[in-house]
Amino acid sequence: MNLVLFGPPGAGKGTQAKILQEKRGLPQLSTGDMLRAAIASGSELGRKVESILAKGDLVSDEVVISIIQERLKKPDCAKGAVFDGFPRTIPQAEALDKLLAGLSRKIDVVIELKVNDEILLDRVKQRIAQGLSRADDNPETLKNRLAVYHRNTAPLIAFYGKQGKVVTVDGMAPIPEVTKQITAAVEKAGG
Ligand code: AMP
Repeated sequence: MNLVLFGPPGAGKGTQAKILQEKRGLPQLSTGDMLRAAIASGSELGRKVESILAKGDLVSDEVVISIIQERLKKPDCAKGAVFDGFPRTIPQAEALDKLLAGLSRKIDVVIELKVNDEILLDRVKQRIAQGLSRADDNPETLKNRLAVYHRNTAPLIAFYGKQGKVVTVDGMAPIPEVTKQITAAVEKAGG
């Protein structure tokens, strides 16, 4: 089962990916986490992408596609994976389809977590108040990340819609309710 968790920044993709990882043994492939790990390690890649993440812009398609290509070779991905924050552009989605086809696999279902922009801004303010915010977690950067999402990433809903793979879930519902709806969609897709 290969599943894409789709939605704006702060929609709860990471939270739900971790739950899926725990319950179904599908590894969470978060390009955001991988890029932050590269920055923390001080690697050449990390130095290259640090200012891009700080601004909330997108890292180049080539960079994230090659990160995912390498990650998919690891044995824990044999049963499938939960893609969290990837793909974020049409070229990334096309590359992912090709990569998976080369492994005789495919995306089974795309879960769209729908959340209003105002609620996302409220959630960031809450994380800041609780001291849980990351470097790119502030109202200004979030506004840019949302603009980037609407411009570059939202068109993927139509891309996967044409493949008949999108299931839309209310991301404003309580976490257990969102998990329940995702579970139903995963089971319907054969997972
Ligand atoms: P995330 O943790 O998914 O919100 O990602 C944090 C940041 O990493 C994003 O704001 C981008 O700067 C970068 N990033 C993560 N995934 C991608 C991707 N698939 N394509 C381009 N940039 C990405």
